[in-house]
Amino acid sequence: MTDKSLHADIEWRDDGQPLSRAFDDIYFSSVSGLEETRYVFLQQNALPSRWTELGAGEKFTIGETGFGTGLNFLAAWALWQQAAPAKAQLHFISVEKFPLHSQDLERALALWPELQPLAEQLIARYPPLLAPGVHRLHFGPVSLTLVIGEASEAFQSLRLEDDSRDRLVDAWFLDGFAPAKNPAMWTPELFENIAALSRPGATFATFTCAGLVKRGLKDAGFVLKKVPGFGRKREMLRGELERIEPAQVTSTPWHLPEGQIYRGHGRMAAPPLLEGFDSAPVGAAHGRDQSRKQVKKVAVIGAGISGATTARALAERGLDVHVFDKGPQPGAGASGNDQGILYAKLSPKPGPNGDFNLHALIFALRFYREKCAEAAHFCGLLQLAQGEKEQRLQHQIGQWLERNKAEALARAVSAEEASAIAGLSLDYDGLYFPQAGWLQPQKVCTTLLQHDNIRLHFETEIEELTAREGGWRLHPRTGNGDFFADAAIICTANGIRQFPQTAALPLRPIRGQVSSVATGEQSQKLNTTLCGEGYIAPAHRGRHSFGATFKLKETATELREEEHRENLETLAGLLPEIAAEFSSQPLSGRAALRAATPDYLPMAGPVPDWDSLDSTYADLRKNRKFLIPQRADYQSQLYVLGGLGSRGFTYAPLAAEVLAAWICWEEMPVSNELTKALHPARFAIRDLGKNRKN
Ligand code: SAM
Repeated sequence: MTDKSLHADIEWRDDGQPLSRAFDDIYFSSVSGLEETRYVFLQQNALPSRWTELGAGEKFTIGETGFGTGLNFLAAWALWQQAAPAKAQLHFISVEKFPLHSQDLERALALWPELQPLAEQLIARYPPLLAPGVHRLHFGPVSLTLVIGEASEAFQSLRLEDDSRDRLVDAWFLDGFAPAKNPAMWTPELFENIAALSRPGATFATFTCAGLVKRGLKDAGFVLKKVPGFGRKREMLRGELERIEPAQVTSTPWHLPEGQIYRGHGRMAAPPLLEGFDSAPVGAAHGRDQSRKQVKKVAVIGAGISGATTARALAERGLDVHVFDKGPQPGAGASGNDQGILYAKLSPKPGPNGDFNLHALIFALRFYREKCAEAAHFCGLLQLAQGEKEQRLQHQIGQWLERNKAEALARAVSAEEASAIAGLSLDYDGLYFPQAGWLQPQKVCTTLLQHDNIRLHFETEIEELTAREGGWRLHPRTGNGDFFADAAIICTANGIRQFPQTAALPLRPIRGQVSSVATGEQSQKLNTTLCGEGYIAPAHRGRHSFGATFKLKETATELREEEHRENLETLAGLLPEIAAEFSSQPLSGRAALRAATPDYLPMAGPVPDWDSLDSTYADLRKNRKFLIPQRADYQSQLYVLGGLGSRGFTYAPLAAEVLAAWICWEEMPVSNELTKALHPARFAIRDLGKNRKN
């Protein structure tokens, strides 16, 4: 959690149009913002004709500076619905330093009645806390990657420093307040980042003809053309990327598998677009995707929450997904408890753990609501501040939430308010997350796996994986012979280490026992999920789950009386009367193993060839800050998602989205910093830096 976020300070003019007080500039033309968008950005990037020519299943990516009210996004989406073929995908990446509060967004978008059906969907999914970093929103075939931050830094944060992977964008909407009023945005670094994220032949359009914009675009490799502007504006600019600058490696590329560095440095063929958009080929014709082998058929091993979210993310991208599990149904392992809670630990300090928790929670809340509301109970969640340290921490978080008007995500509550929300008397202040709650884990997994592109193979234990022709052969212990896939993803929690390819990953089991008890006279009043030291969920089918114990490195899963007692003692700290009520009741429960990493962040990404990693980056033993420009080998098309610890339901949806981005060569749904913080190779790289052998 960082507190650099600043929101748009809007003045509403008499004609109902928004104006930025800070920049003294308008968000869109007062003649007609929608017509301006259509003329400047859609037509001058030749989107109507480019989109009609797209093939089914093709991807088109737009990059934008200044998301503002989202008008450009909605206008592009509306055109996409008319022009693009079914199954094509639109990716819209936009950066915004001063995001509008949702109330302002709603008011601004009410100006466009014809866009209302789309505006409503955007408003419903708009992040409840506009925290700096990447926010990924899905609207069927259209996805929005909204990066909150300074434009140039925000684009930089999307770059993996891989010249083929980073070349994502087909068309740019260079919006943003006028250069005269906002010179700080239109910098050479911004243009450099834009060029680095552009596919060969990418086009741009911008409302301005200012000298610094022309110079910046030219220097970055674009050719420009002046054309008549919209409304009262005499001129505007459009153009195309003509020259690709050689990529500079500025950090050791240990996280990058199978690079295909773009080799076409220097000048490209004469730009066709400036002669007339109508007959021009789309950016794809200039060598999109190079010679990269497309992944079509994938094998996901494991049908718990990590396998189910991964399978779903890939199926929605049109891949043919096969899921294997040794159990008879989804969620047989640690995802098999009766009630799973949607818990995240926010942190007042900037850093990967706090940032990932926050973004994962925001993503997960939206994800379950949209994909499996029938298996989710959004009864709210209270995080109680037991102890002074936790109180101080929550106090800071509460203030930060308030400054950001983020009450839709969470707010600080007094013990009195907490009691009113919970329906039971509570002694502690806390944080209240009104949209969180608890889930039925097995039902969630089953629902996520119901998709036309997913085939399920239960009671099929995969014993071994062998690389074959750029893909993987899976050898089941039971079942119908071998299976071949272009890519394999291992999602088997503690079972991840059973495969030689992933045996080096530092996962450790943590035993957790959950207790279950019949609802009592008092406990039935509980309306919301409670957590602090331990947790309890509201009654479900006449029982409550509470727990859970935390036994590092223990692998036995039998039920233990002493751990029931431990759970009761922990519960007594939160709800003494209820714990007393339960102590005379028979307890049942379930013990399962979580799988955790040493830094308690999940791992989501490609699996290295460990020897190659070790030898390529051996010099990090001498100096962990050495820049070593070589790439190590990776196990081609082998991925892993694991280490979700006790926050599986919160972490899995965003971690699976990261994995899908790796496999499908998309823009990452998290910053480059978080991509690395989730990377399976991070531990080996850290160990080299500490001069430790794995
Ligand atoms: N495209 C928007 C729309 O469809 O509503 C209108 C954009 S408005 C003219 C300009 C936007 O650029 C504002 O939302 C502003 O906050 C944003 N902006 C200004 N300076 C910025 C910067 N340095 N980095 C990122 N965004 C910036």
